[in-house]
Amino acid sequence: MGMDIRTIMVMFSMLAFMFFMLLELAGLHIGSIRGVRQWAIANLCLSLGLSLAYFYAYPTPGSHWVIVLGSMLIVSGISLQFTGIKAFKEERSDWRIVLLIICVALFLNVWFGVIHPDISARAIANSFLFSIIYAACARALLIRIEPPLRTAYWFTGLSFTVLAVVMLVRGVVIWRSLPESYGIYINTPLNPVSFFIACMIQLCVTFGFLLMLNYRLITDLQKIASRDALTGALNRRSLEAEATRLKARCLRTGETLAVMMIDIDHFKLINDHYGHPVGDEVLRRLADITQNSIRPDDYFSRYGGEEFCILLRATTENEAWELAERLRQDYAKFILNVGGKSVNITVSIGVADSTSIGLEFTSLVSAADQALYRAKQDGRNQVVSYSSLS
Ligand code: GH3
Ligand code: MG
Ligand code: MG
Repeated sequence: MGMDIRTIMVMFSMLAFMFFMLLELAGLHIGSIRGVRQWAIANLCLSLGLSLAYFYAYPTPGSHWVIVLGSMLIVSGISLQFTGIKAFKEERSDWRIVLLIICVALFLNVWFGVIHPDISARAIANSFLFSIIYAACARALLIRIEPPLRTAYWFTGLSFTVLAVVMLVRGVVIWRSLPESYGIYINTPLNPVSFFIACMIQLCVTFGFLLMLNYRLITDLQKIASRDALTGALNRRSLEAEATRLKARCLRTGETLAVMMIDIDHFKLINDHYGHPVGDEVLRRLADITQNSIRPDDYFSRYGGEEFCILLRATTENEAWELAERLRQDYAKFILNVGGKSVNITVSIGVADSTSIGLEFTSLVSAADQALYRAKQDGRNQVVSYSSLS
């Protein structure tokens, strides 16, 4: 298969330009996700860099400054991909390192491109530099992260790894063939093949970034759909879905399922005395205390206005009662300071388990609700279990 390097250059330059426009459009409605702009401009830099390399060589090699500018645009493009990844991950980029890489690239390209023109040395230096930046991008992406984002991170990270290796091999091959003079348009198999692979994988990393955007949006939407915005606890709909899943699991394993209903005592008074924003803060803090006290595989949800429900896997009513009692004491100790005043809250809790009631979620909630009602009747700030009702 004959591959003309100039044709590859023009094609990939145009594709990179199209990706620039696509990412610019994607960035218009991407909300708070960061890094898209950097990737868009990165593609513009790559597109312009490749175009300059093409014009430098067509019809005969032109000014050395053109190829220096082309290389600098490509280095800047890859560096912007790196900072874009950092921004996407909501990490700070160390701009000093990026600036240092660009300065080193400028120095090497001016030195070997203009002051002491040596095309082989310039190609080796650029290959190693590209390889270092690609490896940094790969390192930033090949990390532990929850699916589905993991798929996109690892796909993009592996693509960057291949790019780093291709550039390293290219640098080493040119080095080893010294003193034979290297030139990008010299017809050796190394040139079109490494160039073609590098350009193809450059496209892959942009696909990978688009996949990262896609999965981030999906994750964010799933979170919004399943969580309560004020407290971050599960909402009632997702608790019901989890309960159905747990019921099937408990039927299989024979585990007991316990339910805890929590209701803040005299919450209306808190709203009336201190205002709704303080009431909201109390709900948030109460949710934090609870999240920190339960196991990661328990399900904590905001069931209604100031009512919370916890589903406890493999837990008996007695164990649920003990946890509830500990929580009740923790809440009673909690004091919120508002404008110099201390707000103190107590809660009433009802608990029930599946031994006598069965695994139906609505029956369990209804039993825990009856116990909660008794706790309110008996003076509040206490825990009552369903089996103690007579
Ligand atoms: P009891 O001890 O009997 O439970 O008394 P209570 O005042 O807590 O009564 P109830 O449970 O009926 O009160 C619910 C109150 O919770 C009414 C409503 O104003 C308040 N509420 C519900 N949702 C929110 C919310 O999102 N934010 C705030 N600040 N208040 C809320
Ligand atoms: Mg209530
Ligand atoms: Mg209440």
